[in-house]
Formats: sequence, C-alpha cells, structure tokens
Amino acid sequence: MATKIVAAQRRMFSDVFVCRNCNKKIRSQAVRINAGKVKCPKCNSGNFRPIKKK
Ligand SMILES: [Zn+2]
Repeated sequence: MATKIVAAQRRMFSDVFVCRNCNKKIRSQAVRINAGKVKCPKCNSGNFRPIKKK
C-alpha cells in the first residue's frame, strides 16, 4: 500500500519544477529543464528548481 502512494507521489512531483524567480510551478521533463529549453510562462526566466522536498 505504501509503495503505491510513493509511486503516485513520484508521478505527481517528478516532472514538476518551480521557477526560482517567481515560484511558478510548471510541468516539464527534467531533460528539457536541464537543456534550458523551458521558460517560465509568467516571468520568462529559465531558472528552475525541482519541487522535490528534502
Ligand atoms: Zn517565473
């Protein structure tokens, strides 16, 4: 049961990033973020961090 929840959370958060500039959340693949191909729709910044909590 617990593993199912973990898997669901991973699905929800693994592709979500937060703009470092305005904290807007966007969904995108990590490879696209790392390649700098994604821009924030709100402030047009390319500076994102993963939403994953420590
Ligand atoms: Zn932004």
